[in-house]
Amino acid sequence: MEKVIIVGSGCAGWTAALYTARADLGPLLLTGEHPGGLLTTTSIVENYPGFPDGIDGTDLMMRMQKQAERFGAQTRYGVTVTRVDFSRPPFRLWLDEEILETKSVIIATGASHRRLGIKNEELLERKGVTFCATCDGALPIFRNKEVVVVGGGDSACEEAMYLTRFASKVYLVHRRDQLRASKIMADRALANPKIQPVWDSVVTDVYDASKDMVTGVQLKNVKTSKASDLSCAGVFVAIGHEPSTALFRGQIDMDDHGYIVCRKGTATSVTGVFAAGDCVDRVYRQAVTAAGSGCAAAIDVERYLAGQRG
Ligand code: NAP
Repeated sequence: MEKVIIVGSGCAGWTAALYTARADLGPLLLTGEHPGGLLTTTSIVENYPGFPDGIDGTDLMMRMQKQAERFGAQTRYGVTVTRVDFSRPPFRLWLDEEILETKSVIIATGASHRRLGIKNEELLERKGVTFCATCDGALPIFRNKEVVVVGGGDSACEEAMYLTRFASKVYLVHRRDQLRASKIMADRALANPKIQPVWDSVVTDVYDASKDMVTGVQLKNVKTSKASDLSCAGVFVAIGHEPSTALFRGQIDMDDHGYIVCRKGTATSVTGVFAAGDCVDRVYRQAVTAAGSGCAAAIDVERYLAGQRG
């Protein structure tokens, strides 16, 4: 029987592991399929306090892990929880056939990339359609080629700027005529001579599934409804994120968009189950706010378990 199991290995998960380890709770952290979470798909993180020159996203996550493990957090790598039963304590979590039991749970499953939802996006995934410039931008298929980034937020600007290292030109396709990104990111992206914004436009198709590679996109101007084609060798989709909470549906309360609803602090609708980070937060969604809520969840768990002992 574990005292606390942490599901997820992003900023929230590792911070919860650090704090619960230091509280002598011997936390077990299950990393999920993608250890380190979304931050490992960004390049330099410039807004995490304490790193005046910025820090590589993967490096930051590895440091958090090292810090948590130094105080006794246990990690199980690459394991994915396939089912949970939160109907009564002890809570049960399945890793395929294996069943883990625990007195408390911290859900820190974060978020995953939102998709455009068009057929060829899926057919051409990893064949020119991608959700991560840092992971795929340097591939030979994109070098010295024109590519498209879809989105208008910080992620889209960051992806576009990163891609200018490899691509000959980056079209930033956004559905409005103003970026949502923070001013510093938007200004930087728009000042980059290799980035050309395409305003008021959405991607309605990706070519060419019959060739098994990306050769271009079909665009629609949302103001004029006019369709046009744009040649490109890659499509980088950066249109935000969805909370990764499907596993917990029916077990704890969520809002209409799948974000976990917390009642008091990080407490979910099930006593003894807590949640932190991007799976809860639809507003701030920053590395530092996720880390902060991971800390809060750990403190809430510590108090909950102390209360259980009477
Ligand atoms: P976001 O801020 O939610 O932006 C998503 C963008 O995609 C918006 O411009 C949105 O358009 C567009 N979009 C959404 N659905 C679309 C669809 N179906 N078709 C076309 N366009 C669509 O997401 P994000 O950029 O991933 O950022 C998430 C959070 O992480 C933010 O809080 C951000 O500040 C943070 N972040 C920070 C950094 C950094 O500071 N270095 C880097 C990356 C992310 P509308 O604008 O019209 O809604």
